Amino acid sequence: MIDNEVRYSAEQVQLIEHFLERENATGNDWGNEEFSEIKGTIKNHYKVEQGYKCPYCAVVYPVTHGMVWDIEHIVAKDKKVQFMFEPRNLCVACKDCNGAKSSKEVLVNPTRVRFPTRSEDYNIIHPHFDDYHEHINAITPGQFYRPLTEKGEFTIVTCRLLRFYGVVQREQPEQEINDLARVLLNAEGAARGLIEDELVRRIMAKRGDN
Ligand SMILES: [Zn+2]
Repeated sequence: MIDNEVRYSAEQVQLIEHFLERENATGNDWGNEEFSEIKGTIKNHYKVEQGYKCPYCAVVYPVTHGMVWDIEHIVAKDKKVQFMFEPRNLCVACKDCNGAKSSKEVLVNPTRVRFPTRSEDYNIIHPHFDDYHEHINAITPGQFYRPLTEKGEFTIVTCRLLRFYGVVQREQPEQEINDLARVLLNAEGAARGLIEDELVRRIMAKRGDN
């Protein structure tokens, strides 16, 4: 869990306020030249604050140049432009998790207008509000993930954490396992336990093949 959110300078706060007053502000404005300095502030802060660890796959990439890291909007900037610079809506994530998560919906209630500040407002493991290990057992980060809660399952599917098996074993991602993880997300009761066991069995079998 991230303890310290990014702090903006007085000039940066002013820039953000002016931006949010624009009637035509959209998520696409993130690419504007005017925000390059503030993006540097955000990225440098969270890389260090997170100990160079991705909040979704839990892999540590101890790289000081910026190439492996994306600034991650937990609620996508295309969905809620008003949260684009909210410090608790920001962190860094590895490019693969950020790309897989893309603009997918993570809010329990997508119609929320004000920034949701509680863990239970989110379907995904929230880097600022959740303890990762309560939701996913990453036995070996980058290899084997076992969901402990629905949030854990949602995060595994949404960020395609099972992509790692595909990378290790073959060129193509392991579609079958990813599909099964998706089914697990919608399963209830006894079926849930059966599917989870099957998922873990298949993952272990894949590892054994290698
Ligand atoms: Zn990652």
